Amino acid sequence: PLYVAAPERYSKMTYSACGRSGIRLPQLSLGLWQNFGANDSQSNARHMLNTAFDHGITHFDLANNYGPHYGAAESCFGSIYQQDFKHYRDELLISSKAGYDMWPGPYGVGGSRKYLISSCDQSLKRTGLDYFDIFYHHCMDPDTPLEETMQALDYIVRSGRALYVGISNYQPQQTQQAIEILRQLGTPLLIHQPRYNLFDRWIENGLTDVLKNEGVGSIVFSLLAQGVLTNKYLNGIPKNSRAALEHQVYLADKDLTPAKLSKVSALNTLAENRQQSLAQMAIAWTLHNEAVTSCLIGASRPTQIVDSVNALNNLHFTPQEITTINHILKE
Ligand code: NDP
Repeated sequence: PLYVAAPERYSKMTYSACGRSGIRLPQLSLGLWQNFGANDSQSNARHMLNTAFDHGITHFDLANNYGPHYGAAESCFGSIYQQDFKHYRDELLISSKAGYDMWPGPYGVGGSRKYLISSCDQSLKRTGLDYFDIFYHHCMDPDTPLEETMQALDYIVRSGRALYVGISNYQPQQTQQAIEILRQLGTPLLIHQPRYNLFDRWIENGLTDVLKNEGVGSIVFSLLAQGVLTNKYLNGIPKNSRAALEHQVYLADKDLTPAKLSKVSALNTLAENRQQSLAQMAIAWTLHNEAVTSCLIGASRPTQIVDSVNALNNLHFTPQEITTINHILKE
């Protein structure tokens, strides 16, 4: 059936400026790291993308190696894009990345100009897009001069392959250097993409200061710690969850220790008192940090996207709630 986007899609979502730029990002963006691979249901994938856009989520986040197999999420997105989103291209922000290993040999990983430009071309081909809105270096490569990587990003913009550039997983000092190099080149850094959630607050230790001072936006990932910051693992591992998936290597039993689950349980009680699910409170908590422009959610089914959008109905935390959260996390 033909997809027609919900006419009221812009009425509930809030869009905020990404640092000192003209780009406004939705409070929630959708990532395609998991559940858009070659073994996943294409119709579920389509339904998720449609649901997201219908709720004002205008930003979809990809990378060269999202799958499995590598490249599969971009191909999946590409075919749904052709079918449903071609006419909405100018209403969408679509990103991809290169940095982690992608193909064999020395030119399929890292931060070289050779790798970034050829990988970007492959990503454009798989998605069928003419350009990406944002192209990222996925992780810092200590074996490539930072100048070379930033020049490659600058060239990707100048050659029309992307409109803006980002970096992901860079430490504060590397970020500062990248910002300075890119500014000299005339392609300012738009955005940083770090992990950030209740259990992993590393960005508060220097990175957010750099971003705020320099006027760079941020989009944070794994806000739910891949699902651990929900109530789903409080009574074992349910069948339809990421931790139960056989091919899953990123979420291990070690992430579900009794100590961790007792914190999850205490947080869950607090969320219930706020009349939110824990997933919703975890999302609201990340948006509470003023350096965060957008939350990059992942989902395995459309209902989770709707549930996460409903987190936006209560973003306020009392000082007492913040104290309680910090106390739970410290124990
Ligand atoms: P999350 O921590 O948000 O985990 C998402 C998973 O949690 C879902 O797949 C689902 O898993 C579960 N979930 C989501 N919403 C709900 C809900 N409302 N209620 C209950 N369970 C829910 O994020 P991800 O770790 O998946 O990362 C999100 C995105 O961030 C990625 O797609 C990618 O774009 C980006 N990312 C970037 C990285 C980088 O290095 N730059 C690294 C990692 C991610 P299930 O139902 O299967 O249990």
